[in-house]
Amino acid sequence: MNASATASSKIATRFAPSPSGLLHLGHAYSALFAHRLAVSGEGRFILRIEDIDPGRCKPEFEDGIVEDLAWLGLEWEEPFLRQSERLPIYADALAQLDTAGLLYPCFCTRSDIAAEIARAGAAPHLSHHGPDGPLYPGICKQLSASERARRIADNEPHALRLDMDAAVSAAGTLTWHDRTRGEQTAQPELFGDIVLARKEVATSYHLAVTVDDAAQGITLVTRGDDLFAVTHIHRLLQALLNLDVPEWHHTVLLVNNKGSRLAKRDKAFTLRAMREAGTDPEEIWAMSIRQIARQAATDGI
Ligand code: GLU
Repeated sequence: MNASATASSKIATRFAPSPSGLLHLGHAYSALFAHRLAVSGEGRFILRIEDIDPGRCKPEFEDGIVEDLAWLGLEWEEPFLRQSERLPIYADALAQLDTAGLLYPCFCTRSDIAAEIARAGAAPHLSHHGPDGPLYPGICKQLSASERARRIADNEPHALRLDMDAAVSAAGTLTWHDRTRGEQTAQPELFGDIVLARKEVATSYHLAVTVDDAAQGITLVTRGDDLFAVTHIHRLLQALLNLDVPEWHHTVLLVNNKGSRLAKRDKAFTLRAMREAGTDPEEIWAMSIRQIARQAATDGI
C-alpha cells in the first residue's frame, strides 16, 4: 500500500457538494473551513461537484454553487471536476475489485430486500443492522456463477456489491486518523455488503469519493460529522485499490432553530437568501461560528 501523504507535501483540501439544492450556512462553513486550512498551509483547495445521482442533481444547482462560492470570495483550482464525467475511471476501479474477486452482482429490488429482512426478522440472528439501517441480507451472494451469468446475459438490471467478508480479510486491520477524534480502527464490516455500482449509474458515493480524493491528491478530507462513520468504508476501499491515505477532519453540523440539521427547506439559511438580503459575504464565516457557539451553548457543552 502507498504511504500516507508525507509531512513535506502541501495540504490539499476539498469541498465536494452534490448539486441537489441551494447551499446553506452549513455548506458555507464547510467550504470556508476547507479553504482556510488550504490557504493557511499554502496548499490547494479543490472544488468537486458530486453529481452522480441524475434524479436529484441539476445543472442550475451547480451554477448556484459556483455563484455562491465566488460570492464568498473562494478560489479553487480550475477546471473543477464533475463526477458524472468520470464513469470510465470508476469502471476501472470496479474492474480492479472484480478481478480480486471482491464484487458480486445484485439483482434485488428494494422490495426483495425488504421482504427478506422481514422474513429473517422472524429469526433475529439473521437480521443485522448497520449505521445506515438494516444490512443487505445476502440474497444474491448465494447465486451460482451460472445463474449470475444467465441473468446478466438476459440484461437483468443489477448493482454491484462488495463482498465485505472477503474485502475485510483481504485488507486486514486498518486504521485512519481523524483530527478531532484521533486514531480510529476501521470497522467497515458494520455496513455489510454495500453497493459500489448502482443499477442506474455504475458507481456509488463511496466508490467515487474515494477514487476522486486520491486522484486529486487530497491530503485532508474535511466534511460534516454525519459522514464520520462511512470513513470506515472509504479507508477499506483505499486499501483495496492501493490508494494514498489522507487524514480526515469531521466538522460539527449546523442546525436550524428547531435543532435539526440544516436542509434545503431552511430557506432563510441559504446563501442565496442571505446574498439577496444584502448580507456582507465577509460576515458569513463569523455567522457560522456564532451559530456553532449557540449550538454548543444549547447542548450544554
Ligand atoms: N457530496 C457529499 C454531500 O454533498 C459530500 C461528500 C464528502 O464530503 O465526502 O453531502
